[in-house]
Amino acid sequence: MEFGRVAALKAAPLVDPFGRAITYVRVSVTDRCDFRCVYCMAEHMTFLPKADVLSLEELDRLCSAFIARGVRKLRLTGGEPLVRRGIMTLVASLSRHLAAGALDELTVTTNASQLEKYAAELAACGVRRINVSLDTLDPDKFRAITRWGELDQVLRGIGAAQRAGLAVKINAVALKGVNEEELPQLLTWAHGEGMDLTVIEVMPLGEIGEMRLDQYLPLSLVRARLAERFTLEEIDYRTGGPARYVRVTETGGRLGFITPLTHNFCESCNRVRVTCTGTLFMCLGQEDAADLRAPLRASEANDLLDAAIDEAITRKPKGHDFIIDRRRQRPALARHMSVTGG
Ligand code: SAM
Ligand code: SF4
Repeated sequence: MEFGRVAALKAAPLVDPFGRAITYVRVSVTDRCDFRCVYCMAEHMTFLPKADVLSLEELDRLCSAFIARGVRKLRLTGGEPLVRRGIMTLVASLSRHLAAGALDELTVTTNASQLEKYAAELAACGVRRINVSLDTLDPDKFRAITRWGELDQVLRGIGAAQRAGLAVKINAVALKGVNEEELPQLLTWAHGEGMDLTVIEVMPLGEIGEMRLDQYLPLSLVRARLAERFTLEEIDYRTGGPARYVRVTETGGRLGFITPLTHNFCESCNRVRVTCTGTLFMCLGQEDAADLRAPLRASEANDLLDAAIDEAITRKPKGHDFIIDRRRQRPALARHMSVTGG
């Protein structure tokens, strides 16, 4: 009887102190990347020692522990998830939760550099939708933004994903003086190819050796400018993420806006993030975190891990408070997006 009660308690869904059920986990599977996007990384990054990074088996255990507690959507991110050696072993293994009906969606956020190689395999594992980050269609600008990226390779990756039947959403970071003039063209292209486009406001995360204020372009301005050229209809579409969507009448496609700096989307936050070292961040915009690696490694059973997750969720904050510090021009948070997983 006692055992049954404990089992029932363990399977209880994760609900935070504000009544929000945690059903979405984003897991960064590596801090490494084959690009060096100017808003994300410094050109010369020091990456984590291998021993600090969770093995593929540990990542599987961690994800499965969350799924056992009611998480329905899992996004693999990074760094660049598809440069992690053996990543498809993890995807294939996690796909058992899709087959079992325990997970609704397994998805990936990628720079698409390796997508030509992996698109078909991702689709075969039950991945249905992916997010591809692409800020410009100009090869020179692309190289300037990503420092090391090759636009052609990315476009081939997107083509392969579409041929494999994956729905692709393009994420573009709006960058002042870099791609702001090109956003209408990016929108027409994405919608013409049957892809949604989400524009992301640049966030003050991590020391990157660039001036944040130089990059910052408020999405209120982006939206107002797009509204001069396109008809933007409010729609009720939500993907479980923080984006607010409109339909563009002229193209028939969806356009999303993620505005962490100018709007609060915290009330409906259903997500947490785990880094590749097993650090759980309850909020993208707060420093508070919980170490899940120690409990994961301390025991082959999941009791300690489950207890650590439970304790952490009681600390999920109500919201965040991003600011670009205009006097000191320092990031509001010291960690990089490539660590937390965007
Ligand atoms: N490498 C993959 C990619 O680029 O899609 C996944 C990880 S990347 C950190 C996830 C997303 O975070 C990308 O869409 C990227 O553009 C975005 N990102 C990185 N740094 C950012 C920042 N400072 N502000 C806003 N978005 C950022
Ligand atoms: Fe790499 Fe993605 Fe960061 Fe660009 S945004 S450096 S592709 S992790």
